[in-house]
Amino acid sequence: MFTPLPEFYCPFIEDCFHCCLETEMFLSNMDVSRIEKLGFSAENFLEEKDGFLALQNVDNKCFFLKEKMCSIYENRPQGCRFYPLIYDFEQERVMIDKLCVHHQDFNVAVFQPLFDKVLNFVLKLVDEKDHRLEERDKINDKEKESKIESDMEKIERVMEETIEEVSSEEIEVLEESMEEEAEEISKEIKKLEEDMKEEMENIDDQISILEETIEDEMKEIDKKYDEIDNLFFKQEKEKKREDDSEDN
Ligand code: SF4
Ligand code: SF4
Repeated sequence: MFTPLPEFYCPFIEDCFHCCLETEMFLSNMDVSRIEKLGFSAENFLEEKDGFLALQNVDNKCFFLKEKMCSIYENRPQGCRFYPLIYDFEQERVMIDKLCVHHQDFNVAVFQPLFDKVLNFVLKLVDEKDHRLEERDKINDKEKESKIESDMEKIERVMEETIEEVSSEEIEVLEESMEEEAEEISKEIKKLEEDMKEEMENIDDQISILEETIEDEMKEIDKKYDEIDNLFFKQEKEKKREDDSEDN
């Protein structure tokens, strides 16, 4: 039975790297930051699983496993330092992972002082995961809001353009109808002018006829006057002859 050093050392690493194959190790933000400072790009060694940050596997082994050794051993993630201690979410307790090749060789009692540290680390991972998802939700909400705002702006622009198009169409229709009306009015004015001209010509004709009639009437009257004068003269002459005869 082997007694491990607390936290950082598995005595079997010289000939065992089973936990680095198809690893499902979660990382804290601090782990990521520490490894990035070594010059590694997160997109190469990191992937996300249900909001947790996890080591990426390449060809079924951890990205950092080189030549059967951890290439960042001194800076390996905290979870790797605790392994084979894990937190079982179903049983809600810290335990030795049964997937560890030598899990039966470890004395659980020796690990006991690490249990709280493992639990705190797991709680920290959960907190960071929750915070990460909350921040992502906020970003998504903001993106949704800005998309809605942008959609609203597009709709407003389309509405404004439509209103402008409708207005200009209406103006064109109005202009056409006004032109038609103006043409109708000008036709009516022309017709009225022609009617008035005809009417004036008729009135002129009637005046001419009336003038001629009056002239004829005046001639008749003059003629009558002449006749009356003649008759009077005749009577006077007759009377004088009668008077003369009586005197004789
Ligand atoms: S970081 Fe290192 S110790 Fe951890 S799984 Fe990868 S190779 Fe193994
Ligand atoms: S699988 Fe277990 S024994 Fe093997 S290196 Fe990992 S922790 Fe050590």
